[in-house]
Amino acid sequence: MKALTLTSALHLEQVDGWPDPEPGEHDVVVEMLGVGLCGSDLSVYDGKREPAAMPWIIGHEGCGRIVEVGPAVTDRSVGELVVIEPNYCCLLCQWCRRGRTAQCERRGIVGINRPGLLSQFAAVPARFAWPVPEQWPVERLVCFEPLAVAQGVVRRSGVRAGESCLVVGAGSQGLLICLSLLAAGITPVVSEPQPGRLALAVSLGAKPADDTDRRYSYVFESSGVEPGFHDALRAADKTAVVSLVGQNTAPFSVVTQDIVQRQLTLLGALIYDHPVDFDHTRTALGDLDLAPERILRSRATPARADEALAAAREIPGKSWIDLSDWSA
Ligand SMILES: [Zn+2]
Ligand SMILES: [Zn+2]
Repeated sequence: MKALTLTSALHLEQVDGWPDPEPGEHDVVVEMLGVGLCGSDLSVYDGKREPAAMPWIIGHEGCGRIVEVGPAVTDRSVGELVVIEPNYCCLLCQWCRRGRTAQCERRGIVGINRPGLLSQFAAVPARFAWPVPEQWPVERLVCFEPLAVAQGVVRRSGVRAGESCLVVGAGSQGLLICLSLLAAGITPVVSEPQPGRLALAVSLGAKPADDTDRRYSYVFESSGVEPGFHDALRAADKTAVVSLVGQNTAPFSVVTQDIVQRQLTLLGALIYDHPVDFDHTRTALGDLDLAPERILRSRATPARADEALAAAREIPGKSWIDLSDWSA
């Protein structure tokens, strides 16, 4: 099959003879239509995060159409349009049994320890291939997985309509958290130093933060950088919930007295739990005016995927690769 393979850091190559996926009896084979790019793909592309092998196929925010169904699969059929939930939890370990599947001890992570999706075909365990309505555009489908992350963040925070919310950082994840809050009837305030990203957040309905001393009951930190983390803590009201979505391996300085005295809850929010968040996201996309495709800014063909990855960090909004035509 055709695939876009990472041959070394910062070098993506289109190959024609990559081995076809070998589906197991509980798998479906999906012919890929599109894949969104996100920070974790870029960290593999940059060489900061090591995949299971080299050359390697990256990409995990994908959608496509089922072209083959394993013999043990009874609830999926050839021709169905699906989005892929790219974290294959085992459903057996202690964390999975508690419903905290993001912590699964044997989690298969597409694009990291399982082959990624920037290829013509992908084998996917059937339960992680979610059928979606035929009329949803591919642009919406490539935003589904990161939207499920945002929906998971908002769900775990426990925020309710009427609460004051600040979103720190307006990268793709910050934008999708804004959209999720807006769909829940909350107008978030957004703090973002980069003018293009801030403008995009405001165009979706968020309010730009001004320099007042306003405090918020719920704060969502999506930047992952120390100034963002400090902004998030500073803006948190007494007893606030501060959800941490952005990650960093560098140590940050923290005054614990400040957290204890204000009785803040710091909540680490990692991806989503199976099956609740993909299920909720599919329902929300059907019922609410979410239209997450509004965060897309850059579409590339397979031939231009290398350039798209190299530029993705600088472009406000999300970039994606259109895999519907490999000759393009
Ligand atoms: Zn992602
Ligand atoms: Zn597990």
